[in-house]
Amino acid sequence: MMIASCCTRLRILPGIIFSKLAILIVITFLLLSVGTSTSDAMSAKVEDLRIGLKNSTTRLVIEVDQKISPYVFGLANPYRIVIDLPKVNFVLPNQRFSIRGGVIDRLRYGAFRPESSRLVLDLKTPAKVSRKFILSPNLNNNWRLVIDLSPTDHEEFVSTMRPKPTIKESQLVPKKPLPTVPKPFDLPTIVIDAGHGGVDPGAIGISGVHEKDIVLSYAKEIKRQLENKGGIKVYLTRDKDVFIPLRDRVKFARSVDADLFISLHANSHKNSKTNGFSVYTLSENASDAEAQALAAKENKSDVIGGLDLGAYSNDVQNILIDFTQAKTNELSVILARDNLISEASFSVKLLNRPWRSAGFAVLKAPDIPSALIELGYLTNKKEEGQLQNQNYRKNLSSAIARSLLKYLKNN
Ligand SMILES: [Zn+2]
Repeated sequence: MMIASCCTRLRILPGIIFSKLAILIVITFLLLSVGTSTSDAMSAKVEDLRIGLKNSTTRLVIEVDQKISPYVFGLANPYRIVIDLPKVNFVLPNQRFSIRGGVIDRLRYGAFRPESSRLVLDLKTPAKVSRKFILSPNLNNNWRLVIDLSPTDHEEFVSTMRPKPTIKESQLVPKKPLPTVPKPFDLPTIVIDAGHGGVDPGAIGISGVHEKDIVLSYAKEIKRQLENKGGIKVYLTRDKDVFIPLRDRVKFARSVDADLFISLHANSHKNSKTNGFSVYTLSENASDAEAQALAAKENKSDVIGGLDLGAYSNDVQNILIDFTQAKTNELSVILARDNLISEASFSVKLLNRPWRSAGFAVLKAPDIPSALIELGYLTNKKEEGQLQNQNYRKNLSSAIARSLLKYLKNN
């Protein structure tokens, strides 16, 4: 990932002083592909994001080519400021910027729903919006949405920043966001879930590749190969770069009466030598500390996407497995260990102890055998390259497709 100088893009704002030594906040700018559909062409373009500091005020400026109104609210646990916009295209460089000071720790942006976009600011401390206004275009700038943040305490954050009851998560995220599709008569049904998406990039590889893009390419390839074989119905939870809450992924699989659910991911590790394919199933107690840490990381998707866990997806985070799930769990283990891993072992390198288990929220469907696949490590240079290689993708997807068909035949 290229580290760019803060001053190349973070332009000086009138009345705002930028510290030359400012190097602490790491902001990940996520480049989204700019679509070519009519609605994309009509969407506003976010052309620049700037952060400035003056005394204790942190100013965020969103420069955009037409007038749009942001809806800003705060979420605690952890402290975040969420800025919802109508659907926009982010025309920004795929770079990291670093500055020091202020209340913002990290910033992410991307598609939230097909019709809306979202910025999420992770905060170092509770902060409130002290000013918020829109500036008209002038000689040098386009429309600018200006949001000033100043530090506050927990009580004030909770009382002033909470989303207004008129715009709750339940409205932003419709109860049934994905269409219910009738199951074709007698055809076995597989749901393939490309992890992350939109405002949640997932792991970021050493060359800057995003997990969300890698896993989407594998989901599409596995679907294509399964459909070529025929006699099977395959659904993707997403076929584009959009954020989907974890609970909705599970809900979708149940709504199409899936026989199998696989969630695709790519991993990261602080040791760049770590590499290999692995598969995870659901368990209340993790098989090992690493699997537990991985589940915690993958379960963070809703926090990263700016969902209010208290109001929206409490049950998703709460991994309790009752006895009705025992049979499903048995089948999930057969799917993971005896099919996915045994088939993949002929095609790709495996992680040591390639089958592990932990409390993954996305594997919670009580009646659908489910497994979470970590295709490989994006922090390993060789594997990051392999995962983007077309032949490697075809081979690994073919192994996964074969193992799913084998499972369906035998169970
Ligand atoms: Zn992931």
